[in-house]
Amino acid sequence: MRNSVNIGVLGLQGDIEENIICTKSAMKKARLNGEIKAVRYSEDIEKLDAMIIPGGESTVMSSLISAKVFQSIKTRISEGMPVLGVCAGMILLSKGAYDRVVGERKQNLLSALDITVERNAFGRQNDSFETYLNIPLIGKSKIRAIFIRAPVVKEIGKEVEVVAKFEDKIVAVKQNNIIGTSFHPELGDDKLFLLFVKRAFKI
Ligand code: GLN
Repeated sequence: MRNSVNIGVLGLQGDIEENIICTKSAMKKARLNGEIKAVRYSEDIEKLDAMIIPGGESTVMSSLISAKVFQSIKTRISEGMPVLGVCAGMILLSKGAYDRVVGERKQNLLSALDITVERNAFGRQNDSFETYLNIPLIGKSKIRAIFIRAPVVKEIGKEVEVVAKFEDKIVAVKQNNIIGTSFHPELGDDKLFLLFVKRAFKI
């Protein structure tokens, strides 16, 4: 059993607690000891072994994030820290984001994932839905995927692998140490989190 990993969920806005609960469950199944907590200061981010950027509203997160925290996340990712970005979290990790209705907002993006996303691509809150997705990286059983004002990945760079599609739309990607999902795995089950911690800590 590996001891004392330090995982953080960016704690500015969004469903922080659900991501903590789901990570805890995955850590238990992976027999991984350590801490999982919400983080909002660069001093804490600098000490992390892995990070989750939760879903919520990416424009709000972009405006709440300080230049210092933004830079710490960028630096840690470039040093190889594994990151899981969920929905708004994936948008924040992307290098370009637009919305068909409101266009491109001047939001701060980490540009860590070489993808362009269409925000709210399935419509607004009322068009939220759930489905079951096949994710070969996880195994044969399908995972429950909940889409809430979800983005779709429209363009991917050479380094980016497609992890899941819904119909013909890219809804999960991976690039080196980063995984991004359009849907909310933390509201379905812990399978994607288990994949994330196993890959992050080479279990
Ligand atoms: N629509 C939100 C955004 O663009 C993301 C929604 C979510 O994280 N569930 O930021």
